[in-house]
Amino acid sequence: ARRARLAAGSGPGKTADGHPVRLLLNIGSAADLRPDAEGVGLFRTEFLFLDRKQAPSHEEQVSAYAEVFAGSGSVIVRTLDAGTDKPLPFLGLPREENPALGVRGLRVDRLLPDVLDTQLDAIAEAARRTGTEPWVMAPMVTTVAEAGAFARRARAKGIAKVGVMIEVPAAALRAHRLLQEVDFLSIGTNDLAQYTFAADRQHSALADILDPRQPALLELIAMCARAGQEAGKPVGVCGEAAGDPLLAPLLVGLGVTSLSMAPVCVPAVREALAGLTLAECRERARAALE
Ligand code: PEP
Ligand code: MG
Repeated sequence: ARRARLAAGSGPGKTADGHPVRLLLNIGSAADLRPDAEGVGLFRTEFLFLDRKQAPSHEEQVSAYAEVFAGSGSVIVRTLDAGTDKPLPFLGLPREENPALGVRGLRVDRLLPDVLDTQLDAIAEAARRTGTEPWVMAPMVTTVAEAGAFARRARAKGIAKVGVMIEVPAAALRAHRLLQEVDFLSIGTNDLAQYTFAADRQHSALADILDPRQPALLELIAMCARAGQEAGKPVGVCGEAAGDPLLAPLLVGLGVTSLSMAPVCVPAVREALAGLTLAECRERARAALE
C-alpha cells in the first residue's frame, strides 16, 4: 500500500488494487483548470455571469466555454444554476418567499425558455470550434419528465452526452428510471443533503444533520450508483464530499465511478484512494450505512 501511495503522486485515480476512479475538477472558469486531474466534472457556468445586469450574448458565451473546452479534453458543463438563492441579475426573476424551494436551476426554464436554448446553442458552437465533445448536465432536476425534456432539447442541439444532477431526493429515488432518459448522473451532495435533511446547506448550527456520512444520504447515493451499474452508465459525485479524503473512499465503496472536486483537493483524494483496496472501500461504505 505504501508503494502504491508513493506511485500515486500523479496520474489517473485508482484504488490500491487498481480499480479506476476518475478524479475530476469543479471549476468556474478556465482560470481554475489544473493539469493533474482527468478532466472537468463540474463547470459551474453561472459563475461566469454572476454580476451581470445584461444577458451574456451568444458570442460571449461561446468564447468563455471554448476557452474551457480547449484547456481540458474532457468537460462536463452544467447549464446555468440560478434562482433567487443564487441570483443572476440579468434573469430578473421575481422575489420568492422560499427561494431554495422555488424556481432555481432547470426550473428557470419554465419562465425563461430562451435562456437554456441560447446556452445550449453556445455550448454546441464552442464544441464545434474546439473539436471537443463536452458532456452537458442540468442542475436541480426533480422528475423523469424534466430529465427527458432536457435530454431531448440538448440532443436536438447536437450534444452527444446528456446527464442530470441528482440534488433532490425525488430524483435519487428514480435514478434507475432517469437513466433510461440520460447518459450519466452527477450527484450534488451539497444540495442533496440540504433537501434530504430539510436543513439549509449554509446553516452552521445544523452541520451535524448535514454531515454527508448520515446514512440516509449514503442510501440515496448507493441507490444512484447501483442504478448506474445496472444501466452500465457513469454515476459521479460532484459535491464537497467528493473532495474529502475521508469520504472519497466511502463514496467509491458505494459504487460511484468519478469524484469531482475543488482543484486543491485532488492530491489528497488521489492518495487516500491509492492506500485502500476496493474491498476496503466497500467495507467502509457498509460500516457507514450501518
Ligand atoms: C451540489 O449541490 O452539491 C453541487 C455540486 O452544486 P452547487 O454546490 O453548485 O449547488
Ligand atoms: Mg447544487
